[in-house]
Amino acid sequence: MQQYHFDTLIIGSGLAGLTLALNLAQNQKVAIVTKRSLQDSSSTWAQGGIAAVLSMEDSADAHIRDTLVAGAGLCDEAITRCVVENGPQAIKWLISQGVNFTRDSNHETGYHLTREGGHSVRRVIHINDATGKAVQSTLSTKIRTHPNIAILEHHIAVDLITSSKLAHHADKQNENARCYGAYVLDIKADTIHTISAHNTVLATGGAGKVYLYTTNPDTATGDGIAMGWRAGCRIANMEFIQFHPTCLYHPHAKSFLISEAVRGEGGLLKLPNGERFMPWHDERAELAPRDIVARAIDFEMKKRGLDCVYLDISHKSSEFLKQHFPTIYTRCHELGIDITRQPIPVVPAAHYTCGGIVVDRKGKTDLGNLYAIGETAHTGLHGANRLASNSLLECLVFGQAAAEDILSLSPVPPISLPKWDESRVTDADEEIVISHNWDELRRFMWSYVGIVRTNKRLQRAQHRINLLREEINEYYTNFRVTGDLLELRNLVTTADLIVQSAMLRHESRGLHYSLDYPNLLPQAQNTILRRKEFELASENSVPI
Ligand SMILES: Cc1cc2nc3c(=O)[nH]c(=O)nc-3n(C[C@H](O)[C@H](O)[C@H](O)COP(=O)(O)OP(=O)(O)OC[C@H]3O[C@@H](n4cnc5c(N)ncnc54)[C@H](O)[C@@H]3O)c2cc1C
Repeated sequence: MQQYHFDTLIIGSGLAGLTLALNLAQNQKVAIVTKRSLQDSSSTWAQGGIAAVLSMEDSADAHIRDTLVAGAGLCDEAITRCVVENGPQAIKWLISQGVNFTRDSNHETGYHLTREGGHSVRRVIHINDATGKAVQSTLSTKIRTHPNIAILEHHIAVDLITSSKLAHHADKQNENARCYGAYVLDIKADTIHTISAHNTVLATGGAGKVYLYTTNPDTATGDGIAMGWRAGCRIANMEFIQFHPTCLYHPHAKSFLISEAVRGEGGLLKLPNGERFMPWHDERAELAPRDIVARAIDFEMKKRGLDCVYLDISHKSSEFLKQHFPTIYTRCHELGIDITRQPIPVVPAAHYTCGGIVVDRKGKTDLGNLYAIGETAHTGLHGANRLASNSLLECLVFGQAAAEDILSLSPVPPISLPKWDESRVTDADEEIVISHNWDELRRFMWSYVGIVRTNKRLQRAQHRINLLREEINEYYTNFRVTGDLLELRNLVTTADLIVQSAMLRHESRGLHYSLDYPNLLPQAQNTILRRKEFELASENSVPI
């Protein structure tokens, strides 16, 4: 076991974490802890692009308006304005780092801009259909060669080290609640290190893996949200999970997105017997907004007991499909699906976590010296539904804002922190418990807390979560931790936060749809969860 000290500890290497690191490293010693390789993140998987006001035909007011409309009354207008107004300089910063956006010499900006659902003009800058991969690869190259940035790959943060936890163990009261760093498991060496830092930043992404079907990578297990919750931070709007209508359904295709552009170009959604069903649900049929299409697919699947539905674009020419959808064509072909002749099996899938740790406009959480940025955070930008391509923008703007704030603080000398105590644990006897619980959780969350909710389904889920939590806590207290156990523990906490939030919302708004409360309440309110004092106290009494 080692103890390390850094000026800033960043947990997570998605766009939010990398942006922050590069903006701090001129002046600070920074560590990036990431549980797989530097590139493993949702950010790398982002296809479409980044929304920003770049063209003369666009305006900040128009981008703000589109964001507020999508957010269904719950966006924070001041934060939305701040993010939108900082968009153009954030893109300039990426270009200055060497990101080579797709060009268009005929456009006044010199770049090609696309238009996505919910945007009133073309404002999405991109790198073909693999924006995230190109951005992350450019920034990662800089990060890897930076002398002030230490990279700890295959290291998973276990928990935050907070003053109240230390005070509890030293048996004394501490007035200023703050964060001192984190315990981090080196997955390959199977050792837990203590990392102390003047500032700690959660940039751990979303929680799509809480659902059976998700477009998210395996890293999206809600770790930061769960760690923030355990440390006493407020968590907001977790009921708003965005579901993408069409994720490829195939035993060997984990989380492969079939872009909405396929429906845009004439793709038709069909039942296994070839019958179309979207016209029964909405007059815009396949071109209805994302949440309506996802709900319709969910309805047909549940009603008929189907494993999937089909997206058929085989009526278009082979040349057209290969030219417009090269990535989709190739991936499906690898799996034995010829999209020029066959329909594509699809299911809706959890795509984006709108809620998260409550932060201010600098990314500061309720706890001193703890920040949260990117999908882990709740800034108020997304409201009850995220506008497409606003999330990468949020990562950039809040990564820069948090850096500015951190650099304005005067550093304090590190304190010595207690080591992780493994004296009372043994090796786990039955790993099967973990894999079984992972599976169970993701299945009942899909069935009971998915696209369409009811009071009864939420109660059922709550009951099962309580049982799982008990079992997992017992496991956590008695056995040596592993990456899988940590993720499962965080998934159960995140699932609990989603269910608690969904139960508190007695209306259908944005992404939250309840058959028991199908209407909109006149006043829009955020759902804010706060831990009860006694729960926090019992959390802090757990051996470190
Ligand atoms: C398929 C797909 C397509 C998308 N397309 C777009 C798009 O076109 N435009 C757009 O704006 N948005 C898009 N999104 C959403 C967007 O990609 C994400 O919201 C954004 O990338 C989140 O960035 P982040 O830095 O917050 O988190 P991530 O990029 O998810 O990074 C989180 C990081 O934290 C690490 N981590 C997590 N827990 C721990 C832990 N306990 N210890 C150590 N490390 C940890 C992970 O390994 C990872 O490195 C898409 C998402 C997906 C899944």
